[in-house]
Amino acid sequence: MIEISNLRKYTREALTRLEVDMNFIDAESPYTERTLYFEIDKKFSYMFADDTYDAFVLVPLYLAMLHKQDLHIRGKISAKLYQNIKWYVQKIWCDFYDELSPVTLTVDGFAAPPKKRGKLIGTGISCGVDSLSTIYDHFVRERDPDFRINALFYFNCGIFGEFGDAKFLELTLNRNEPGKRAAKDLGLPCYYVNSNLHAFRKIVDMNKLNFIAVYSCALSLGNAVSRYYVSSGTNYQEIKQFNDHYHNADMSGFCESYLVPLIQTERTELIVDGCQYRRVDKLKNIADWDVAQKYLNVCWGYTPDGSNCGLCPKCLRTLLPLEILGKLDDFAAVFDVERYREISFNYKIRCLQNYGKDPFEIENVDFARENNFPMPTKHDAYILGEQLIYF
Ligand SMILES: [Zn+2]
Repeated sequence: MIEISNLRKYTREALTRLEVDMNFIDAESPYTERTLYFEIDKKFSYMFADDTYDAFVLVPLYLAMLHKQDLHIRGKISAKLYQNIKWYVQKIWCDFYDELSPVTLTVDGFAAPPKKRGKLIGTGISCGVDSLSTIYDHFVRERDPDFRINALFYFNCGIFGEFGDAKFLELTLNRNEPGKRAAKDLGLPCYYVNSNLHAFRKIVDMNKLNFIAVYSCALSLGNAVSRYYVSSGTNYQEIKQFNDHYHNADMSGFCESYLVPLIQTERTELIVDGCQYRRVDKLKNIADWDVAQKYLNVCWGYTPDGSNCGLCPKCLRTLLPLEILGKLDDFAAVFDVERYREISFNYKIRCLQNYGKDPFEIENVDFARENNFPMPTKHDAYILGEQLIYF
């Protein structure tokens, strides 16, 4: 059995930590970490909900299902979250990943609903396409104060690498810089939350654990955050078409659209946003937005300072739709567009060759057709043959 206990909130120097112990009972833990925690600037310590274990259920549950251990929480959690985990979430995860097994979750009771819910309506700001599209729709375009974003968050929970790796921590902090500047331009507060949830990535890979870690970070802020938009990178059509492709591999692609609505407590509602758009449609949505033109940052992080490299698949699948839209030069502050023009022909050939296999390259080819944009011909691809440069 895995047991989660000893929930505490304490401040050390400038940071407040919300922390629990995690113990394997009658089994040896394969992890060196013995606690799970979240940290925030002590000025914002009130945001952490320390009367409920809600933020410490999902990651331990996933580990329990992976290691075939029941899970006991020695404290209270949201009744709503408990019910959804018991009846639905475990089934979805078992369908997603063949190595998982259903387990028994027991708790010591249910947390009382809050007298007043928090006032913050938030989302993450990574400055990627998904993140900026969510902010554009739910801050710039939204007028209803109950649904309009009024706070931005940056969670360090393993998007860029493993816990304890100084290089990845530096990259994570570098990648926070455009978000902080964008938040300032927008007049929104930007809160940084640190965690150690990615310490468990050494056994559980990123595309399985990181999404759960993001949801958990949002739940840790239950005293302040009443709604949190989770920007999804997968659209509804893709989820249907590429279900097998994402099985055992990418939790977001496989099930985020119907998993997130189940990650709810009486304090905090998570809303999955972005599944209604293809990635190219999100780019079209934000292409004329000055904030996107100044801060768009999509790169897989091959550059030391975290800027867009312009060469990796993620950069290229962003640049081609911008070219199709006639907006390349508007993004010259964040991409080397001249360099892209030199190499774009080969990338376009690759998109044509991968049509039907890769969701993003399908989108780009379809988007070119929809916009009457001239792509290379099959003859061009044949002539180039082995000379093609693959990225
Ligand atoms: Zn790149």
